[in-house]
Amino acid sequence: MTALTLADILTARRTIAGTVTYTPLIPSLFLADTVGSDFLLKLETTQPVGAFKLRGAVNAVFNLPAGTRGVTCCSTGNHGRGVAFAARARGIRAVICMSSLVPQTKVDGIRALGAEVRIVGRSQDDALAESQRLCEAEGLTEISPFDDPYVIAGQGTIGLEILEQRPDIATILVPLSGGGLAGGVGAAAKTINPSIRVVGISMDRGAAMHASLAAGKPVEVEEVASLADSLGGGIGLDNKLSFQLCRDHLDDVILVTEEEIYRAMQVHYYEDRLVCEGASAVGAAAALAGKLDGLDGPVATIITGRNVDMRAYTSIVNGADVTLGAITVTGTAYGR
Ligand SMILES: *Cc1c(COP(=O)(O)O)cnc(C)c1O
Repeated sequence: MTALTLADILTARRTIAGTVTYTPLIPSLFLADTVGSDFLLKLETTQPVGAFKLRGAVNAVFNLPAGTRGVTCCSTGNHGRGVAFAARARGIRAVICMSSLVPQTKVDGIRALGAEVRIVGRSQDDALAESQRLCEAEGLTEISPFDDPYVIAGQGTIGLEILEQRPDIATILVPLSGGGLAGGVGAAAKTINPSIRVVGISMDRGAAMHASLAAGKPVEVEEVASLADSLGGGIGLDNKLSFQLCRDHLDDVILVTEEEIYRAMQVHYYEDRLVCEGASAVGAAAALAGKLDGLDGPVATIITGRNVDMRAYTSIVNGADVTLGAITVTGTAYGR
C-alpha cells in the first residue's frame, strides 16, 4: 500500500479551505432512470478556475517552503490554471508549459491569471521536458499534475466531500488520466468505506493508466486528439505514486468512445442543464453506453471541469461534426 493516508487528505482539506470551493453534489434524474439507481454529479465545474485541479494545486503550492521563487508545471490546461491561481494567491511566479494540443480557451484562462505560458511540442512529454529544464535554468519548483503527494491529497478531498454529502454512495466513477484524482478519491473513499467501488473511466484511445495497469507497470501510449482533451498524456515511466494508488484502489477501468463522450455531453447539457468538458462526461458516457454492470446502490461521478472550447461545444450541442486535429467525431442531433 502506498503511503497516502486519510490524515494527509484531512490536512489538505484544512489547507485548501477558504481558497477552494466545497462543491455541490446534485442528482441527475435522467441518468438515474438510465442506470436504475440514484446518480449524483459532483460539480467541480463550480470551482473558481472551473475544474477540480485547483484542489491539488493549492495544496501543493501552499505547502512549498518559504522563499520558493516560483513554480512551473506541464499541463493539459486545468492543472496549469490551478497552479496559476494558487501561485497568484501566494504571490509567486508561475510558468505553465503546454503542448499545442491544448485548446486556446485554456491557454487564455491561464494568461488571465497572470502566469507565463510556454507552448512546446505536440505532447505532454514535450511540455514536461520544458518544465524540467526551467527548474534547472530559472530556479523554479515543478508541480506534477498527478504524481505529487500534495496534489493527490488535494484531489482526495473530493472523496471526503462526496461521502459526507451521501454516505450511502456505493460506486464512484472517476475520470482517469494520470490518476491523481482517482488515486486520491480512491484512497479517501476506501479508507472510510472499504466496500465502495471506485471505477476509473478513460477514452478508448491513448488511455495511459489503463494500458499501464494492464501491463503491470507504467507504459507509454500514443497521444491523440480527443473530446476528452484533459485526459490526454502519459503517466510517466518513472511514476512514483499515482500508478500504485490506482492499482491499489481502482476496482475497474472502463473505456468510452468519442461518440459516447459526444452523446454524454449532450445529455449533460439537455437533461442536466450543465456545461462541461468531454473529460467530465465520461462517467455519464459509460452509464449511457450500458458499460456499468453490477451497480448496487447510488452512483456518483465527478464533473471534473467546464473549460471547454465553446466553438466545439456549441457544435456538439447543435449535433454538428467536430474536428479535432486528425480526427472528426460525427455529429448527431440530440433526441431521447
Ligand atoms: C486532469 C483532469 C482529469 C484527470 O485527472 P488525473 O488526476 O490526471 O487522472 C479529469 N478531468 C479533468 C477536467 C481534468 O482536468
